[in-house]
Amino acid sequence: MTIIYDKIAIIGVGLIGASIALAARRAGLAASVTGCEIDSAKAGEIEKLGLVDHVTTDAVAAVQDADLVVMAVPVGALGPLAAQIVPAMKPGAVLTDTGSTKRSVLRDVDPHISGDIHWIPSHPLAGTEHSGPAAGFAELFDGRYWLVLPREVPEDEVVRFESFVTGMGSVSERMDADYHDKVLALTSHLPHLIAYTIVGTAVDLESQLKNDVIRFSASGFRDFTRIAASDPVMWRDVFINNDEAVLEMLQRFSEDLSYLQRAIRWGEKDKLETLFSRTREIRRSIIDAGQS
Ligand code: NAP
Repeated sequence: MTIIYDKIAIIGVGLIGASIALAARRAGLAASVTGCEIDSAKAGEIEKLGLVDHVTTDAVAAVQDADLVVMAVPVGALGPLAAQIVPAMKPGAVLTDTGSTKRSVLRDVDPHISGDIHWIPSHPLAGTEHSGPAAGFAELFDGRYWLVLPREVPEDEVVRFESFVTGMGSVSERMDADYHDKVLALTSHLPHLIAYTIVGTAVDLESQLKNDVIRFSASGFRDFTRIAASDPVMWRDVFINNDEAVLEMLQRFSEDLSYLQRAIRWGEKDKLETLFSRTREIRRSIIDAGQS
């Protein structure tokens, strides 16, 4: 594989940042990768894990000579981070993020972009319930979509960035921020909210029942606990920053739930079976699309 960016700086070497470092190095897409972690204990851990070529706790120093800067921190931290690092970036360098919401990212980062920086917001549709540097792995993005939101950036810079993400194993797709936030509200944010709610309900049960829920947890509840174990800060920021689309999808969801509630109360078997057959088809299409 050929080098696409000579020097890469990754700010926030957690699950996503560490996986980018490993995937880029696996494919030889960069001559050197610098990781920045403000917490010095975590910086030591990153060094020990050998995830990057250089580790620093200084974001400004990390970006100074980088050709590509990746901000892989919770979405609520992106605005202040951009304000800090953009003035230190070299002209012509590319800035991207990995945030799970996009309208808020444009709102928070756009004001800090200067004319000579190529700002290409993005979002890899890949993740696990784990967080932190040790959770990263090179295969995380293999076969997964990576959504790219080109702004007022030369087309050749966007194409170059796309070849970087495809080099890491992803499938690149362009999308605008409004559409992104709607799609993700339904496919990712709402399922997480439901998982947090169900597991929260179990936590509130009286203690004997709660113990048995945990002891006899079958695949349904167990799967929800996996999703509900996702990073609290990251998900707090997602809901606060995609509130509009999440609330809209939640409203639709509540209506559909009431429909099911009524069907169960009135013993309307056909309605239940029809819906469950339709949803089974969706699962088949996801498997056929290689995204299971
Ligand atoms: P993570 O494992 O928790 O890592 C986040 C990193 O950001 C950590 O190194 C953390 O350092 C650092 N950080 C936190 N607050 C910061 C701040 N105010 N300033 C500078 N650094 C800060 O999270 P992640 O899963 O990699 O997520 C990173 C980004 O990718 C988020 O925007 C998330 O929405 C997005 N994303 C996540 C997933 C997923 O499934 N996890 C999927 C796609 C996209 P400390 O640990 O020291 O706080």
